[in-house]
Amino acid sequence: MTAAPATLDRIRRHLVGLRMPRSLEVLEHLLRQLERGEISALEAIDQLLDEELSLREGRRVKAALKMGRLLNIKTLAGFDFSFQPSLDRNRILTLAGLDFVSRHEVLHFLGQPGCGKTHLAIALAVEAVQAGRSVYFTTLAELIGSLAKAEREGTLRERIRFLCRPQLLVVDEIDYLPVIAGGGNLFFQLVNARYERGAMILTSNRGFAEWGEVFGDTVVATALLDRLLHHAIVVRIEGASYRLRRHADLLPDSSAAQSTHQPELAPRRRGRPPKLRTGNLSAAT
Ligand code: ADP
Ligand code: MG
Repeated sequence: MTAAPATLDRIRRHLVGLRMPRSLEVLEHLLRQLERGEISALEAIDQLLDEELSLREGRRVKAALKMGRLLNIKTLAGFDFSFQPSLDRNRILTLAGLDFVSRHEVLHFLGQPGCGKTHLAIALAVEAVQAGRSVYFTTLAELIGSLAKAEREGTLRERIRFLCRPQLLVVDEIDYLPVIAGGGNLFFQLVNARYERGAMILTSNRGFAEWGEVFGDTVVATALLDRLLHHAIVVRIEGASYRLRRHADLLPDSSAAQSTHQPELAPRRRGRPPKLRTGNLSAAT
Protein backbone atom coordinates (compact mmCIF):
# COMPACT_ATOMS: atom_id res chain seq x y z
CA MET A 1 0.00 0.00 0.00
CA THR A 2 1.56 3.30 -1.08
CA ALA A 3 0.15 6.68 -0.13
CA ALA A 4 -0.19 9.26 -2.90
CA PRO A 5 2.54 11.95 -2.61
CA ALA A 6 -0.10 14.72 -2.57
CA THR A 7 -1.96 13.06 0.31
CA LEU A 8 1.28 12.55 2.21
CA ASP A 9 2.16 16.18 1.71
CA ARG A 10 -1.18 17.23 3.08
CA ILE A 11 -0.83 14.96 6.11
CA ARG A 12 2.60 16.49 6.81
CA ARG A 13 1.19 20.01 6.55
CA HIS A 14 -1.68 19.10 8.87
CA LEU A 15 0.71 17.65 11.42
CA VAL A 16 2.71 20.89 11.32
CA GLY A 17 -0.49 22.97 11.58
CA LEU A 18 -1.74 20.86 14.47
CA ARG A 19 1.67 21.14 16.15
CA MET A 20 2.30 17.42 16.24
CA PRO A 21 6.11 17.27 15.86
CA ARG A 22 6.53 13.75 17.14
CA SER A 23 3.94 12.39 14.70
CA LEU A 24 5.75 14.14 11.89
CA GLU A 25 8.97 12.48 12.99
CA VAL A 26 7.56 8.95 13.11
CA LEU A 27 5.35 9.27 10.01
CA GLU A 28 7.93 7.97 7.50
CA HIS A 29 8.85 5.02 9.67
CA LEU A 30 5.19 4.06 10.17
CA LEU A 31 4.51 4.39 6.44
CA ARG A 32 7.38 2.03 5.63
CA GLN A 33 6.06 -0.47 8.15
CA LEU A 34 2.64 -0.09 6.59
CA GLU A 35 4.03 -0.64 3.08
CA ARG A 36 5.80 -3.77 4.22
CA GLY A 37 2.54 -5.03 5.72
CA GLU A 38 4.05 -5.15 9.22
CA ILE A 39 1.26 -3.09 10.75
CA SER A 40 -2.33 -2.29 9.82
CA ALA A 41 -3.60 1.21 9.01
CA LEU A 42 -5.38 1.29 12.35
CA GLU A 43 -2.20 0.34 14.19
CA ALA A 44 -0.35 3.08 12.32
CA ILE A 45 -2.89 5.71 13.42
CA ASP A 46 -2.77 4.34 16.94
CA GLN A 47 1.03 4.53 17.13
CA LEU A 48 1.14 7.98 15.56
CA LEU A 49 -1.22 9.37 18.19
CA ASP A 50 0.42 7.42 20.98
CA GLU A 51 3.85 8.87 20.18
CA GLU A 52 2.45 12.39 20.16
CA LEU A 53 0.59 11.90 23.42
CA SER A 54 3.69 10.47 25.13
CA LEU A 55 5.70 13.50 24.07
CA ARG A 56 3.05 15.89 25.35
CA GLU A 57 2.61 13.97 28.58
CA GLY A 58 6.37 14.01 29.17
CA ARG A 59 6.46 17.76 28.60
CA ARG A 60 3.44 18.35 30.81
CA VAL A 61 4.97 16.37 33.67
CA LYS A 62 8.31 18.15 33.27
CA ALA A 63 6.66 21.58 33.31
CA ALA A 64 4.41 20.68 36.25
CA LEU A 65 7.37 19.38 38.27
CA LYS A 66 9.22 22.64 37.62
CA MET A 67 6.18 24.78 38.45
CA GLY A 68 5.66 22.79 41.63
CA ARG A 69 9.35 23.30 42.50
CA LEU A 70 9.98 19.57 42.53
CA LEU A 71 13.54 19.79 41.30
CA ASN A 72 15.33 17.07 43.24
CA ILE A 73 13.23 14.19 41.99
CA LYS A 74 12.76 11.11 44.19
CA THR A 75 10.60 8.13 43.35
CA LEU A 76 8.87 5.33 45.20
CA ALA A 77 10.79 2.89 42.99
CA GLY A 78 14.00 4.45 44.32
CA PHE A 79 13.00 3.96 47.95
CA ASP A 80 14.55 0.95 49.64
CA PHE A 81 11.76 -0.30 51.89
CA SER A 82 13.95 -3.08 53.25
CA PHE A 83 16.03 -0.36 54.96
CA GLN A 84 12.96 0.83 56.92
CA PRO A 85 11.22 -2.34 58.13
CA SER A 86 8.98 -0.29 60.43
CA LEU A 87 7.43 1.28 57.36
CA ASP A 88 4.48 -0.54 55.82
CA ARG A 89 5.28 -0.63 52.10
CA ASN A 90 1.68 -1.40 51.15
CA ARG A 91 0.45 1.56 53.17
CA ILE A 92 2.78 3.87 51.23
CA LEU A 93 1.72 2.30 47.92
CA THR A 94 -1.92 2.85 48.91
CA LEU A 95 -1.11 6.49 49.64
CA ALA A 96 0.34 6.65 46.12
CA GLY A 97 -3.22 5.98 44.93
CA LEU A 98 -3.76 9.60 46.02
CA ASP A 99 -7.17 9.19 47.68
CA PHE A 100 -5.87 11.40 50.48
CA VAL A 101 -5.41 14.17 47.91
CA SER A 102 -9.01 13.80 46.71
CA ARG A 103 -10.19 13.82 50.33
CA HIS A 104 -8.16 16.99 51.14
CA GLU A 105 -6.37 15.23 53.97
CA VAL A 106 -3.09 16.02 55.68
CA LEU A 107 -0.35 13.41 55.56
CA HIS A 108 2.38 13.71 58.19
CA PHE A 109 5.76 12.01 57.88
CA LEU A 110 7.51 11.96 61.25
CA GLY A 111 10.93 10.60 62.05
CA GLN A 112 14.58 11.30 62.69
CA PRO A 113 16.80 13.12 60.17
CA GLY A 114 17.72 10.98 57.19
CA CYS A 115 14.97 8.39 57.61
CA GLY A 116 13.41 9.25 54.24
CA LYS A 117 10.64 11.74 55.06
CA THR A 118 11.53 14.18 52.27
CA HIS A 119 12.16 11.32 49.84
CA LEU A 120 8.67 9.88 50.42
CA ALA A 121 6.98 13.29 50.37
CA ILE A 122 8.59 14.10 47.01
CA ALA A 123 7.89 10.64 45.61
CA LEU A 124 4.18 10.99 46.43
CA ALA A 125 4.17 14.50 44.98
CA VAL A 126 5.70 13.13 41.76
CA GLU A 127 2.97 10.47 41.65
CA ALA A 128 0.40 13.24 42.03
CA VAL A 129 1.92 15.26 39.17
CA GLN A 130 1.92 12.19 36.94
CA ALA A 131 -1.73 11.65 37.80
CA GLY A 132 -2.49 15.19 36.66
CA ARG A 133 -2.81 16.82 40.09
CA SER A 134 -1.30 20.23 40.77
CA VAL A 135 1.47 20.23 43.35
CA TYR A 136 3.69 22.77 45.09
CA PHE A 137 6.74 21.89 47.18
CA THR A 138 8.33 24.16 49.77
CA THR A 139 10.10 24.03 53.11
CA LEU A 140 8.47 25.58 56.17
CA ALA A 141 11.21 28.25 56.36
CA GLU A 142 10.80 29.21 52.68
CA LEU A 143 7.03 29.21 53.00
CA ILE A 144 7.01 31.46 56.05
CA GLY A 145 9.67 33.68 54.46
CA SER A 146 7.50 34.14 51.39
CA LEU A 147 4.39 34.85 53.49
CA ALA A 148 6.28 37.38 55.62
CA LYS A 149 7.58 39.10 52.47
CA ALA A 150 4.08 39.22 51.01
CA GLU A 151 2.76 40.68 54.27
CA ARG A 152 5.41 43.43 54.19
CA GLU A 153 4.49 44.20 50.61
CA GLY A 154 0.75 44.19 51.29
CA THR A 155 0.13 41.12 49.10
CA LEU A 156 -0.53 38.47 51.74
CA ARG A 157 -4.03 37.68 50.48
CA GLU A 158 -2.74 37.06 46.96
CA ARG A 159 0.10 34.93 48.26
CA ILE A 160 -2.29 32.80 50.32
CA ARG A 161 -4.60 32.48 47.33
CA PHE A 162 -1.63 31.34 45.22
CA LEU A 163 -0.68 28.73 47.84
CA CYS A 164 -4.28 27.49 48.01
CA ARG A 165 -4.33 26.67 44.30
CA PRO A 166 -2.29 23.45 44.22
CA GLN A 167 -4.30 20.35 45.03
CA LEU A 168 -1.32 19.09 47.04
CA LEU A 169 0.98 21.35 49.04
CA VAL A 170 4.14 19.78 50.49
CA VAL A 171 5.66 21.59 53.46
CA ASP A 172 9.00 20.01 54.23
CA GLU A 173 11.24 20.40 57.28
CA ILE A 174 9.16 21.35 60.26
CA ASP A 175 12.21 20.84 62.41
CA TYR A 176 14.77 22.17 64.83
CA LEU A 177 15.08 25.69 63.49
CA PRO A 178 12.44 27.81 65.21
CA VAL A 179 10.38 29.93 62.83
CA ILE A 180 10.71 33.72 62.66
CA ALA A 181 8.54 35.88 64.97
CA GLY A 182 4.96 35.93 63.71
CA GLY A 183 5.73 33.01 61.38
CA GLY A 184 3.39 30.62 63.15
CA ASN A 185 0.52 33.04 62.69
CA LEU A 186 1.26 33.39 58.96
CA PHE A 187 1.47 29.61 58.55
CA PHE A 188 -1.83 29.28 60.42
CA GLN A 189 -3.53 31.68 58.01
CA LEU A 190 -2.46 29.48 55.11
CA VAL A 191 -3.38 26.21 56.85
CA ASN A 192 -6.76 27.65 57.76
CA ALA A 193 -7.36 28.77 54.18
CA ARG A 194 -6.52 25.29 52.86
CA TYR A 195 -8.39 23.45 55.64
CA GLU A 196 -10.75 20.87 54.09
CA ARG A 197 -10.06 22.41 50.66
CA GLY A 198 -6.66 21.04 49.70
CA ALA A 199 -4.34 18.22 50.70
CA MET A 200 -0.97 18.68 52.35
CA ILE A 201 2.07 16.57 53.14
CA LEU A 202 4.12 17.73 56.11
CA THR A 203 7.44 16.33 57.21
CA SER A 204 8.85 16.82 60.69
CA ASN A 205 11.42 15.48 63.07
CA ARG A 206 9.62 17.09 66.00
CA GLY A 207 6.77 15.50 67.93
CA PHE A 208 3.48 17.39 67.81
CA ALA A 209 3.89 18.32 71.49
CA GLU A 210 7.04 20.23 70.51
CA TRP A 211 5.28 22.46 67.99
CA GLY A 212 4.84 25.16 70.64
CA GLU A 213 8.64 25.48 70.64
CA VAL A 214 8.92 25.31 66.86
CA PHE A 215 6.39 28.09 66.37
CA GLY A 216 7.38 29.97 69.53
CA ASP A 217 3.71 30.15 70.52
CA THR A 218 1.63 27.40 72.10
CA VAL A 219 -1.69 29.03 71.20
CA VAL A 220 -0.79 29.16 67.50
CA ALA A 221 0.66 25.63 67.66
CA THR A 222 -2.58 24.32 69.18
CA ALA A 223 -4.69 26.05 66.52
CA LEU A 224 -2.40 24.68 63.80
CA LEU A 225 -2.59 21.13 65.13
CA ASP A 226 -6.37 21.41 65.46
CA ARG A 227 -6.56 21.87 61.66
CA LEU A 228 -3.63 19.67 60.73
CA LEU A 229 -4.68 16.63 62.76
CA HIS A 230 -8.39 16.71 61.98
CA HIS A 231 -8.36 14.78 58.69
CA ALA A 232 -4.87 13.42 59.08
CA ILE A 233 -2.76 10.37 58.33
CA VAL A 234 0.33 10.07 60.50
CA VAL A 235 3.21 7.96 59.24
CA ARG A 236 5.93 7.57 61.84
CA ILE A 237 9.21 6.21 60.51
CA GLU A 238 11.01 4.59 63.41
CA GLY A 239 14.20 3.61 61.63
CA ALA A 240 17.68 5.04 61.29
CA SER A 241 19.26 7.56 58.95
CA TYR A 242 19.82 6.30 55.44
CA ARG A 243 22.47 8.98 54.98
CA LEU A 244 24.55 7.55 57.82
CA ARG A 245 24.05 3.88 56.98
CA ARG A 246 27.68 3.30 56.07
CA HIS A 247 29.12 5.40 58.90
CA ALA A 248 27.63 3.96 62.07
CA ASP A 249 31.14 3.42 63.49
CA LEU A 250 31.97 7.14 63.26
CA LEU A 251 29.05 8.24 65.38
CA PRO A 252 28.80 8.78 69.12
CA ASP A 253 27.15 5.89 70.93
CA SER A 254 23.53 7.02 70.95
CA SER A 255 23.60 7.97 67.29
CA ALA A 256 25.49 4.83 66.35
CA ALA A 257 22.67 2.81 67.87
CA GLN A 258 20.34 4.85 65.72
CA SER A 259 22.10 3.98 62.53
CA THR A 260 22.52 0.29 63.10
CA HIS A 261 19.18 -0.30 61.55
CA GLN A 262 17.28 -1.65 64.55
CA PRO A 263 13.70 -0.44 64.37
CA GLU A 264 12.87 -1.60 67.87
CA LEU A 265 15.14 1.11 69.33
CA ALA A 266 13.27 4.20 70.41
CA PRO A 267 14.16 7.15 68.22
CA ARG A 268 16.51 9.70 69.72
CA ARG A 269 14.72 12.90 70.49
CA ARG A 270 15.56 16.29 71.88
CA GLY A 271 13.70 18.09 74.59
CA ARG A 272 10.60 16.90 76.34
CA PRO A 273 8.92 13.74 75.08
CA PRO A 274 5.76 14.59 73.19
CA LYS A 275 2.47 14.16 75.01
CA LEU A 276 0.68 13.08 71.90
CA ARG A 277 2.15 9.78 70.76
CA THR A 278 1.07 8.37 67.44
CA GLY A 279 1.52 4.73 66.66
CA ASN A 280 3.30 3.81 63.48
CA LEU A 281 1.09 4.47 60.48
CA SER A 282 -1.87 5.23 62.66
CA ALA A 283 -4.56 7.51 61.41
CA ALA A 284 -5.45 10.40 63.66
CA THR A 285 -8.88 11.62 62.78
P1 ADP B 1 14.74 13.14 55.90
O1 ADP B 1 13.90 14.06 55.09
O2 ADP B 1 13.95 12.18 56.71
O3 ADP B 1 15.78 13.86 56.70
P2 ADP B 1 15.61 12.26 53.30
O4 ADP B 1 14.33 11.80 52.71
O5 ADP B 1 16.13 13.57 52.82
O6 ADP B 1 15.55 12.23 54.87
O7 ADP B 1 16.71 11.13 53.03
C1 ADP B 1 18.10 11.41 53.05
C2 ADP B 1 18.75 10.83 51.81
O8 ADP B 1 18.69 9.42 51.87
C3 ADP B 1 18.07 11.23 50.53
O9 ADP B 1 19.03 11.30 49.50
C4 ADP B 1 17.11 10.08 50.27
O10 ADP B 1 16.85 9.91 48.88
C5 ADP B 1 17.89 8.90 50.82
N1 ADP B 1 17.03 7.88 51.42
C6 ADP B 1 16.45 7.91 52.64
N2 ADP B 1 15.82 6.77 52.92
C7 ADP B 1 15.97 5.98 51.83
C8 ADP B 1 15.54 4.65 51.50
N3 ADP B 1 14.85 3.90 52.38
N4 ADP B 1 15.88 4.18 50.28
C9 ADP B 1 16.60 4.92 49.41
N5 ADP B 1 17.06 6.16 49.68
C10 ADP B 1 16.75 6.69 50.87
MG1 MG C 1 14.06 16.13 54.97
